Amino acid sequence: MPDADHYPLWHPFTQMARFEREPRLVVARAEGNRLIDASGAEYVDGVASLWANVHGHGHPHIVDAIREQAARLQHSTLLGITHEPAIELGRRLLPHFPGRSRVFFSENGASAVEVALKMALQYQANRGQPERRRIVALDMAYHGDTLGAVGVGGAGPFRDVYAPFLFEPLRFPNAYRYRCARCAAAPACTDACVNALRDLLEARGGEVAAVIVEPRVQGAGGIIVAPEGHLAAIRALCDEFGVLLIADEVATGFGKTGAMFACDLEGVTPDIAVAGKGITGGYLPLSATVATEEVYRAFLGGEERKLFHGHTYAGNPICCAAALASLDLFETTDVLARGRARAALLGELLAERVAPHPLVGEVRRQGLMTGVELVADRETRAPPPPEREAGWRVCLAARERGVFIRPLGDVVVLMPPLSIEEDEVERIVEAVVHGLDRIARG
Ligand SMILES: *Cc1c(COP(=O)(O)O)cnc(C)c1O
Repeated sequence: MPDADHYPLWHPFTQMARFEREPRLVVARAEGNRLIDASGAEYVDGVASLWANVHGHGHPHIVDAIREQAARLQHSTLLGITHEPAIELGRRLLPHFPGRSRVFFSENGASAVEVALKMALQYQANRGQPERRRIVALDMAYHGDTLGAVGVGGAGPFRDVYAPFLFEPLRFPNAYRYRCARCAAAPACTDACVNALRDLLEARGGEVAAVIVEPRVQGAGGIIVAPEGHLAAIRALCDEFGVLLIADEVATGFGKTGAMFACDLEGVTPDIAVAGKGITGGYLPLSATVATEEVYRAFLGGEERKLFHGHTYAGNPICCAAALASLDLFETTDVLARGRARAALLGELLAERVAPHPLVGEVRRQGLMTGVELVADRETRAPPPPEREAGWRVCLAARERGVFIRPLGDVVVLMPPLSIEEDEVERIVEAVVHGLDRIARG
C-alpha cells in the first residue's frame, strides 16, 4: 500500500513530474467568478474552469434545479426509453440551432464529436454513397482526446504518438493570419485557405463525407480567430460539392464568442453541430450532437441503419436539469449582452496595456475568447525559446495576483465566464501584465 504522503492522482494533460514538484492549487470551493483554495485565497476563474463556466459558480437557480432533479429522478437511460428532462432540453435547444431538428446527447465534447463523425460517415453509407469516407479537417484543429477526435485533430506530439492508430483526414490550411504562409505579410487576407479547400474538393470531393471545423475560433490550437466570412465560404463550398458541414461548437458555444453560437455570427447552418462545455453552464458533464432532419431521416428503416452509438449516462436527467436552468438564465436575463460588454472592456484594456508589450506578438479575440501570443521578437515574430516556458510562467505569475489562467504553449488564454464583473476583468489584465513584466526581467 502507498504511504500517506503518496499523491493518488494522475492528472489530464499534466506532466506529473512537474506537478509533484510544484506548489499545488487545491480548490476547496467557488463563488461567483472566484475559485477559493483551502487557505481561503481567491483566484478569478480566468478560463471559466476550462471554458465551461457561463454564469459563475454556485448560481442558486442552477444549484436548485440540480437538487430538485436529483431527488425526483437521478438517472434513467435513453437507450430505447425516454424521460422528460431530456425531451424538454431537446425542445429548448433546437431554437438555438435553426434548420436542425434532432438532438443526440452524450457526456462530453469528444464523444459528441465521435457521434458527429459516425453520423456523417453512416449517413453517406445509408444513402448509398459509401465511397464518401473521408473527413476534411483544418490544420491545427482540436476536437477532443478520444482516438476518432484525435484523428481529425491537428498535428503535434499529442497526435503523433498515436498516429498509427488514427484515421487520416484530408486537410486544409487554417486561417491563422499572424503566421499564414500566404498572407501574413499581405495587407489583407487573400482567402488562400478557402481556395485550398476548393482545390481539395475539386480534386477529391467525391470521396468526402464531411468537412469538420471549429467555427470562427480554433480554441486549443491557440485561440485562432478566422476572418469574417470564412465560415460562410466553407459552407458554400460544402454545398457546392455535396458534402456535410460539421461545426464543432464545443468551445465557441453558449455566448463565448458574443453570439449564442459562432455559426450565428455568419448565419451559417451546419448539417451537424456539436455542443458541450458550456451546455450545463459548466455545472455537469453533458454534450449534444444536433443534426438536420435530412441527416436523421437517412437512419430510418431496418436495424442495420440505426446509429450504433450510446453512452451510459448520455442525457442524464440531472445534467439536463442543469442545462435547462442555464437556458432559463439565457432567456430571462441579459447574460449575452453582459458578456459582450465585458468582452469589449477586456478588448480595450488589452489593447492599452498588453498589446504594446515587447513580448506580445498578437492579441486575438472574438467575444470573451482571447489569445495573447507571446514572441521573442515582435519584428521577426520568432516564438520564445521553448525552454523559457514563457506562456506557462506568465500564467504562474498571474496566480500571485489572484488570477487563475492556463496557457496553450506560447499563447496565454483568457476566457472568463460571461458573468465576469468589470473589476475582475481589470484584475485579469493586470495579472497578465504582471506576468509579462516578470518574464521580461528574465
Ligand atoms: C474541449 C473541446 C472538445 C472536447 O470536449 P471534452 O468535453 O473535453 O471531451 C472538443 N472540441 C472542441 C472545439 C473543444 O474545445
